[in-house]
Amino acid sequence: MNPAFIYEINPGRILFGPGKAQAVAEEIERLGAKRALILATPFQRADAQRLAERVGPLAAGVFSEAAMHTPVDVTLRALDAYRASDADCVVALGGGSTIGLGKAIAWRNGAPQIVVATTYAGSEVTPILGQTENGIKTTIRDPRILPEVVIYDPTLTVALPVPMSITSGLNAMAHAVEAVYARDRNPVSTLMAVEGVRALHDALPAITARPDDLDARTLALYGSWLCGSVLGTVGMSLHHKLCHTLGGSFDLAHAQTHAIMLPHSVAYNAPAAARELEPLAAFFGESIGSGLHEFARSLDAPLALKELGLQEAQLDLAADLAVKNPYWNPRPVEREAVRSLLQRAWEGARPE
Ligand code: NAD
Repeated sequence: MNPAFIYEINPGRILFGPGKAQAVAEEIERLGAKRALILATPFQRADAQRLAERVGPLAAGVFSEAAMHTPVDVTLRALDAYRASDADCVVALGGGSTIGLGKAIAWRNGAPQIVVATTYAGSEVTPILGQTENGIKTTIRDPRILPEVVIYDPTLTVALPVPMSITSGLNAMAHAVEAVYARDRNPVSTLMAVEGVRALHDALPAITARPDDLDARTLALYGSWLCGSVLGTVGMSLHHKLCHTLGGSFDLAHAQTHAIMLPHSVAYNAPAAARELEPLAAFFGESIGSGLHEFARSLDAPLALKELGLQEAQLDLAADLAVKNPYWNPRPVEREAVRSLLQRAWEGARPE
């Protein structure tokens, strides 16, 4: 462990368990609020409407235009809807895209946020907002961005399609893997990270076999909470930088990109972080990059960046961008080694 550390704990109220989504109305009142604008993606609009009916007079309306990477024009329309409906809080029902919209509203007008999380991405427990304007993605970290209340109800994740469950679960694992070697880790963040990986390692194969297994769904959501919590607490390294570059500059899908890149990023960092990664050998063997690759393959996860539409000719630019302004990383970030890592990830080859 780190012999000395600083641990800043994010405040927040967590409600966890099957049926907990029934508590939304109570939680709105508990915040001292009276009118919640309910947020969703177009895909989850019907779910948001049902939630609005359930909370009755506490619902100010539904805004269902949330989109990946939190475009600022959508946020501005949502702020108009917030004002026009006389709302005094937001309820985000969904994954990282919807949660991002709630955060973007709160960051601008201080609205209290309740999140009902339905994927494993982990954004609900971080004070981080990534938003896009004119094709540029910027990241803001501010205590106002952290949602006040998070509800994890595994019954709402049963309908998350298996491929999305797997990539979203691997996205969550990526937070935890980078947390175990984070420069600013502490003994508690490491405990949470290893337990988060354990939970997802056990849950994802069970979900693949039985998508409606509520125990497996509960375990996965528990793991995603832990993994999201460490994302909100310690710094991320090369893996997240690579995924931000591939998502931000080449518009690759978020969870799938994480799923493909994780084995390669870990293999890159393993020689410099062998001791820190040791607790994960129990799940993936001594060669963690290869072990993660096999794990992803056994779950039918996407393995190659070319499957996501990235062209081989774009790899040079991706490598250039990924090594620019690097995040702290346990192993020095070298352009040629990163280029060859990207080549293997593009092909879907085993990590080196
Ligand atoms: P998402 O929120 O974009 O969801 C993907 C699709 O699945 C959407 O259409 C959504 O409506 C649907 N969906 C969600 N839950 C469902 C369910 N239970 N059943 C059926 N369909 C469901 O995907 P995501 O991976 O959760 O989020 C990705 C976004 O979150 C990216 O923009 C990423 O940058 C951001 N993110 C931010 C942070 C942070 O801390 N700021 C952390 C992780 C991810």
